[in-house]
Amino acid sequence: MRAPVVTICRRGADRIRAGHVWVYRSDVVATEGVQPGAVVLVQEQGGLPAGKFAGKSARATRTSSDKNVRPTRTGVARTLGTAFYSTASEIAIRMISPKPVTNIEQLVRERIRAGVAYRERFVQNTNAYRVIFSEGDFLPGLIVDKYNDILSLQVLTQTWDPVPMRNVFLSELQDALNPRAIVERVDPRVRRLEQLPERESGIVWQGENSEPPNQDVIPNRFSDEDHSQSNHPASLGMTSGEEVDPREAPVTPKLQTEFHMNDVRFLYDALGGQKTGAFLDQRENYAAAEKYARGGALDVFTYQGGFALHLARSCEKVTGVDSSRPALEAADQNAALNGREIEWIEANAFDLLRDYSDSGRKYDTIVLDPPAFAKSRQNRETAIRGYKELNLRALKMLRPGGILVTCSCSYHVSAADLLEVLASAALDSHRIVRILENRGQSKDHPSILGIPETAYLKCLISAVS
Ligand code: SAH
Repeated sequence: MRAPVVTICRRGADRIRAGHVWVYRSDVVATEGVQPGAVVLVQEQGGLPAGKFAGKSARATRTSSDKNVRPTRTGVARTLGTAFYSTASEIAIRMISPKPVTNIEQLVRERIRAGVAYRERFVQNTNAYRVIFSEGDFLPGLIVDKYNDILSLQVLTQTWDPVPMRNVFLSELQDALNPRAIVERVDPRVRRLEQLPERESGIVWQGENSEPPNQDVIPNRFSDEDHSQSNHPASLGMTSGEEVDPREAPVTPKLQTEFHMNDVRFLYDALGGQKTGAFLDQRENYAAAEKYARGGALDVFTYQGGFALHLARSCEKVTGVDSSRPALEAADQNAALNGREIEWIEANAFDLLRDYSDSGRKYDTIVLDPPAFAKSRQNRETAIRGYKELNLRALKMLRPGGILVTCSCSYHVSAADLLEVLASAALDSHRIVRILENRGQSKDHPSILGIPETAYLKCLISAVS
């Protein structure tokens, strides 16, 4: 059966030709009653005026086989490839192939296997990593993380939600990774934006169950309602900064495992925590920070202790700060698991840094890894002020020769912006800052040239004198 056709304007087509995979709704010229989440053929509007062309959608269908034909003055549309279509998102089109795709199931299975093979090749020293990174693996809208024997996934677009599609990726993930269980972490805000029916987080497949994967979720009642922080409906599963208080969640059976990275052990509660559970995108930055860290260390926005647990191997004393008590409780369990003594402080980081810097406290190493302050371009200025404040306080509190590790996971604050923030904080605090490493996200979160949104995490490690 021929895929339905969506026609887009020149601007959208140019975006695709430049290597991007998104086309915004404002660049869609015509759709032929396309269903939510449909796999569509994308064509560039030909030489005919938009209105006239839109009225001739049947013609667009007929010409869809002319995939390599350049637009001509007579208005022949050019096929740009195959995409997932959303009837709700501002990102109407997410390209999956520059060609017509006849067997979508086969394509999804191949991409999953390619994602697994890429990690086998490039990810080291861990059994926890992102297996599928949405656009970064050309499976836009699907996120899959592996924590030892548990897979944790997020469905972010209409295409992935119907049962037949779920069965395809669930069965391929089982074949490729042989997990004990697969859980789905629902982001209610994303489901609302995509106009998908409500759904709860829970187990979507379990090994003991010999039946084929089914669509029923075992509800865990651990709703992420209103606590999600996706930057965008097109969230790439970016780090988030808010926490659900499990005291408010009814008790349900736990699904837990233990994973390791860089020879540090972590507990994983598949249905607790933020997003899919841990911030795997920082894995390589933990190891890098540990190399330089020394003396007394302060890990601000520690969550479950990711940086702190690593720093504890190279520092004399480590303090981790977070506003979330459940996160710190998990951090404390992780410390015990690794036989480490770490001090945890539940506080608002801004207040604590102000108090500590005003009272003249000093550290040899400070890590700043705040949640995404800029969730949209409109928040950019406010976000930059937030980063400036944090970095200025931290620089003032570092002893000469100290190490600053400063991160930003806001896509809308660029790497250049973060450098500028740090430069301005250095000037204001009269400190010399030498960049030791200018880093990004771990390799299991691949960033694709041409799709700038796939690169979101910044991590600068500096020596401060
Ligand atoms: N560094 C962590 C990830 C941090 S995510 C890791 O590598 O795992 C951001 C963290 O900031 C979350 O744990 C969130 O609870 C915390 N947070 C958000 N706002 C805060 C604030 N104002 N003060 C302190 N912590 C805050």
